[in-house]
Amino acid sequence: MEFIDLKAQYQAARATINERIQTVLDHGQYIMGPEVAELEGALAAYTGARHCITVSSGTEALLIAMMALGIGPGDEVITTPFSFIATAEAVVLLGATPVFVDIDAATCNIDATLIEAAITARTRAIMPVSLFGQPADMDAINAIATRHRLPVIEDAAQSFGARYRGRRSCNLSRIGCTSFFPSKPLGCYGDGGAIFTSDDHLAQAMREIRVHGQSRRYVHTRVGVGGRMDTLQCAIVLAKLERFDWELAQRAKVAARYDAMLSGRIGLVGRAPGCTSVYAQYTVVIDERERIQAALQADAIPTAVHYPVPIHVQPAYAHLSRADSCPVALEMAARVMSLPMGPHLSAVSVHDVAAALLRAAGESLPGADAQACS
Ligand SMILES: *Cc1c(COP(=O)(O)O)cnc(C)c1O
Repeated sequence: MEFIDLKAQYQAARATINERIQTVLDHGQYIMGPEVAELEGALAAYTGARHCITVSSGTEALLIAMMALGIGPGDEVITTPFSFIATAEAVVLLGATPVFVDIDAATCNIDATLIEAAITARTRAIMPVSLFGQPADMDAINAIATRHRLPVIEDAAQSFGARYRGRRSCNLSRIGCTSFFPSKPLGCYGDGGAIFTSDDHLAQAMREIRVHGQSRRYVHTRVGVGGRMDTLQCAIVLAKLERFDWELAQRAKVAARYDAMLSGRIGLVGRAPGCTSVYAQYTVVIDERERIQAALQADAIPTAVHYPVPIHVQPAYAHLSRADSCPVALEMAARVMSLPMGPHLSAVSVHDVAAALLRAAGESLPGADAQACS
């Protein structure tokens, strides 16, 4: 069993993907070819945002978004410590300081009720992460941001396609950033990412920053980066986008099957009302994680931990805050474990994974009590 079966996904979409790749090889516009604008149009329409700017990775998306907002030395960005390192890394790369706010124990997303107390005169943005594929409490976060005239950047690297109160992730705040890293819900076959906004000025700035701050050929009106997504990767995402809604429905089915077997027996990351998850990860909350991971490994079931060490206690970031801050993030980092997930995971495999987990945790299988009584 694979943790995420990208080969099965490729086999299912092979003809379309190959055809798309061949078209790019034949037309030869490997950088900024027609598929780049085509993908940007398709993704903007999908999310409802007015602009989509494809970029070379999710990390670069965060970096370019903050550069467009003018974030730099002396500035603070409020974010979560329970994320992939890139979230805070992009802030530090610009010379700014990430200010970590603890997470909600149920969803593992930033606890919106703690944000306001972290705002200072230096705060320049709030950057929630839609962790495991589920948006944070964006209405509450946007309301705080509006009161303090701050932009909100959604790190939607794991949540492209998710819905929050009728809107799509990436279009829930001033800027949304996503990633097309192969294992993300909508992945390419290399590195890629995209930025979304409905602010025309920010969009223009981000388009220029993506190409070395160039406003016209060889006219550099600002300092930028080499941050383009290549045409081949855009072509691959275009091909995969055709099946994406089907894949999201399959992911939801897989999650529902896990839920049916595990809920009430094993701790689960909670789903907030009013939003959907795209299940970038299906994550359980357990004790004795090492022993349970080893037991599953012995049954040839791969698991992963997202994330074993919160960012605020990582060696390169620990000087930024107290080690005992964000206690919920510290606790969840010790207890979370992600199970195999993907649109091609069969009902039999889901059953086998859930049964192995229940066995390892000393829990009975659903239906086992009824059988014992009969
Ligand atoms: C994957 C990820 C990123 C970085 O995306 P890359 O495309 O790998 O650079 C940023 N934030 C989060 C939450 C992620 O999961």
